[in-house]
Amino acid sequence: MSAPLSVLRDRLARAAIAAGAAGVDALLLTPSPDLRYLLGVSSGSHERLTCLVLPTDGDPILVVPRLERPGLDGSAVADLGLDILDWTDADDPYALVADLLRRSGPVSGRAAVGDAMPARHVLRLRDALPATEQVLASQVLRELRMRKDDAEVAALTTAGEAIDRVHARMEEWLRPGRTEAEVGADITAAIVAEGHTEAAFVIVGSGPHGASPHHDVSERVVQPGDVVVVDIGGPTPDGYYSDCTRTYCLGEPAETDVADTYAVLQAAQDAAVAAVRPGVTAEHVDAAARGPITAAGFGEHFIHRTGHGIGLEVHEEPYVVSGNALTLEPGMAFSVEPGIYLPGRWGARIEDIVVVTPDGVARLNHRPRELAAL
Ligand code: ZN
Ligand code: ZN
Ligand code: ZN
Repeated sequence: MSAPLSVLRDRLARAAIAAGAAGVDALLLTPSPDLRYLLGVSSGSHERLTCLVLPTDGDPILVVPRLERPGLDGSAVADLGLDILDWTDADDPYALVADLLRRSGPVSGRAAVGDAMPARHVLRLRDALPATEQVLASQVLRELRMRKDDAEVAALTTAGEAIDRVHARMEEWLRPGRTEAEVGADITAAIVAEGHTEAAFVIVGSGPHGASPHHDVSERVVQPGDVVVVDIGGPTPDGYYSDCTRTYCLGEPAETDVADTYAVLQAAQDAAVAAVRPGVTAEHVDAAARGPITAAGFGEHFIHRTGHGIGLEVHEEPYVVSGNALTLEPGMAFSVEPGIYLPGRWGARIEDIVVVTPDGVARLNHRPRELAAL
């Protein structure tokens, strides 16, 4: 599935304009979320070079290995009427790209390469274009990808509904006597069953493991009275990610400070979401989450930023972090996920994806945010 052709055409045109404004001659993009955003295709070509050459001036051209070309039939690439230049294993694809750049008339002598382009391509492109300075494509594409259009917001909404359905079933799996890994395996299957193509991450942090924000799963057996952080998500067939954390308790908490501390966390998450609207900065939202936690004396135990943008990647811009003075605009989508982590004892996190609307904010996750007793 990919965006409608008119949307892809518009993105290509806006990317070229943004590239010109950023002072680069062309974007060079290998298979990646960037390429999926612009062309609706995401398939890789392993060690062989597939590269979109998107000049500031002139038509975009897709350079592909000849053996991959039949795979593009029926894709948005074919329907877009994009020029395709194929190459065989006897050709030098980097020289082809260099040639295209020279013909489109270099002005700035700068080319923007995809941020996650493999080094084997980056370095060979550098050899083929020794006078061209390479810069990161994110400085161009962040301006587009940060601002989600209606179809992207719909895709993120669908992803949010899918992961909410998984959290809704948690009592089927999260029980005393089972290991985190056993619980995680069931969650992984449910993430796919509820509409994702895969489970990209499954964190089941029980008891003291909940104090490690990026804990995975382990052989620890879940105990009665444990507080358990469950942070899960993955991509839907559209390529857009879900990411949602809820914190559960197995019966009455074994630790006596859980209810009061959790109430602080829930107030912080509510305050941060309530702070989101067009015109405020990303760091203002981070401060709104940090305020109640710091006031209650847990500031040093909230050890990460408040959130991250989400879309075709699970972590992308904008980052909700102190120092990010970016002004929020309608269509920006990101997580709000404060946590309190008490080393050696327990931890908690509440995470929703939100999207900035013209007059405020919409949450894309709707499961109850209270400490859920199972
Ligand atoms: Zn994280
Ligand atoms: Zn998460
Ligand atoms: Zn997250």
